[in-house]
Amino acid sequence: MTTTLTIALSKGRILKETLPLLADADIRPSVDITNSRKLLFETNHPHIQLLVIRATDVPTYVAHGAADIGVAGKDVLLEHGSAGLYEPLDLNICRCRLMTCAMVGARLGNQRPRVATKFVNITRRYFSKQSRQVDIIKLYGAMELAPIMGLADQIVDIVDTGNTLRANGMEPLETIANISARMVVGGTAMKLKHARIQPVMDSLTAAVSQRQHNN
Ligand code: AMP
Repeated sequence: MTTTLTIALSKGRILKETLPLLADADIRPSVDITNSRKLLFETNHPHIQLLVIRATDVPTYVAHGAADIGVAGKDVLLEHGSAGLYEPLDLNICRCRLMTCAMVGARLGNQRPRVATKFVNITRRYFSKQSRQVDIIKLYGAMELAPIMGLADQIVDIVDTGNTLRANGMEPLETIANISARMVVGGTAMKLKHARIQPVMDSLTAAVSQRQHNN
């Protein structure tokens, strides 16, 4: 019996860039994922299936062995932590930066800055590494609103073009990390299904290099 390989994909923005890359690596879902409400998809390979889940759930599925391979943003991986995960390949898609941002021209007073973010762990690590004391406020979305409404002095958020910041009177300050989507493999899968994972890793690596070569 051949074991099935399950690849967990992050929904949303990353999915749109992941599917063409998977197609370049000759892994194609049997139906149009973007127009489906299903969560589990067969592919052109009888023993490879795709899961489409929230980005923040991808490392959890893979680390626990509920999926063998995952595609997730480095922001999500840094926030989740790397326990039980290998990160063998930078897919070089969904490039952006994780940054501190504030209202244009805002001056920080002497008080501890309040920093609103959904990346609580990354933010805590970043400021404590620099021995800077901040109060972190956990939000789940629309971080840009927090300084406007006086909830926070700064935010830590993903910046791509900077248009969202500009539209809200904010500016980027410091880069915490350069972000892109990564391939992750679970520790158990890497041991037990290595022979099946290696060809997928090889064809994805080739697809990524081919794109770099074409650019
Ligand atoms: P922008 O206006 O182009 O700077 O995009 C910023 C917004 O888009 C942020 O609020 C992010 O949540 C989202 N965003 C941009 N790039 C990515 C990405 N690669 N992954 C996830 N979210 C992103």
